[in-house]
Amino acid sequence: MKRRDLLKGLTVLPLAGGVFSGTSASGAELANVASTAAKRDLFKELGIRTFINARATLTFMTGSLMQPEVIDAINNSSKRYCMLDELQDKVGAKIAELCHAEAATVTSGAFSAIMLGTAGVLSGLDAKKAAMIPHLEGSGMKTEVILQKGHDIGYYQAMKNCGVTMVWVETRADLEKAINEKTAMMGFMNCNTNQGQIKHKEWLEVAKKYKIPTLIDIAADVPPIENFWKFNDMGFDLVCLSGGKAIRGPQSSGVLMGKKDLIAAARLSASPRGSTIGRGHKVNKEEILGLYVAIEKFIRTGEEEWNFWMKQIAHIENAVKDIKSIKTRVFVPELANATPNLEISWDQTVIKATGQEIQKRLSLGEPGIELNAGKNNISLVTFIMVPGEEKIVAKRIREELLIG
Ligand SMILES: *Cc1c(COP(=O)(O)O)cnc(C)c1O
Repeated sequence: MKRRDLLKGLTVLPLAGGVFSGTSASGAELANVASTAAKRDLFKELGIRTFINARATLTFMTGSLMQPEVIDAINNSSKRYCMLDELQDKVGAKIAELCHAEAATVTSGAFSAIMLGTAGVLSGLDAKKAAMIPHLEGSGMKTEVILQKGHDIGYYQAMKNCGVTMVWVETRADLEKAINEKTAMMGFMNCNTNQGQIKHKEWLEVAKKYKIPTLIDIAADVPPIENFWKFNDMGFDLVCLSGGKAIRGPQSSGVLMGKKDLIAAARLSASPRGSTIGRGHKVNKEEILGLYVAIEKFIRTGEEEWNFWMKQIAHIENAVKDIKSIKTRVFVPELANATPNLEISWDQTVIKATGQEIQKRLSLGEPGIELNAGKNNISLVTFIMVPGEEKIVAKRIREELLIG
């Protein structure tokens, strides 16, 4: 029975008790609700402030916006069922192939990838052990993970969730001394490469020497496109990527990729398996397929996107650079969200407002615009905007700078 026929049928069926208890909605009314639901502006209805994000992919600001192809994949896949493990097997194989990994699995974000990867290293292919995590004492599992002090970003909590003790090292001598029979894994936070004395090659060299599995967090490190496979090629056993940064897959998606046995082991702790630490890190078919499409597309068109981001940056730069005392600078961070940024700075004897004041005025304007600010500057990115929004941003920044 088609949905329309079903709804039509409802107009003549007596709605006695049961499913629609207490209501007497006609089929026409139900159909009306269904069609207007798609048009509801829920933000408006609930009084939630929305804004243009020219600042960064920040979780508290709802990250990034999904690409249209991702939304299509979500819509198309939302109308049918499949077996979750079969989907993970097949999508994982495709992502692994694209990224030069032996295997891959979709997780509910990079944080989840780090946690599930750590769990897999601890349990190996023993499901009984996986079910004991995070209670490692007396389990026969190893209990320590080594990180460099300079890599101390909050996200190592994902490893700690598995019950391990963090061991912090600075030099290669420290590292070799720290390795013992309890060492489970050596972690590496790519965004803090420059804050650590030991770089990728040496980290891997020591890990190979003592046969310790390695995991690297590259959550926000695509682009560049080659980073999809660079760390697999380099020899990291596990690589963790976020789906909700510049790739613009679903915000609650990520990838764990690497060695076949370790991915299989990590999946012992992942949903749908119930009595495990990872059951709450659920991803469903729409997100899994959405991320797959996002990765595929980014590999294919990432370079064109980069050129488009540069054009958006140039548009905003051109809109303000004739204003008195304004200086502009385009730069790309070396690590973490390596996308084009524009910094606009001024002489405060000419333009009195501080960066923070301009930032606040833009935030409170219509539409609201969120960006970064310093004492006498503001800075922004365009890679997470809706195409076209750069025109509004350019106009609003110009207006505010001219007010001074
Ligand atoms: C964003 C980020 C994470 C977390 O990624 P999610 O996909 O939000 O879970 C972890 N590590 C680094 C370095 C990040 O930038």
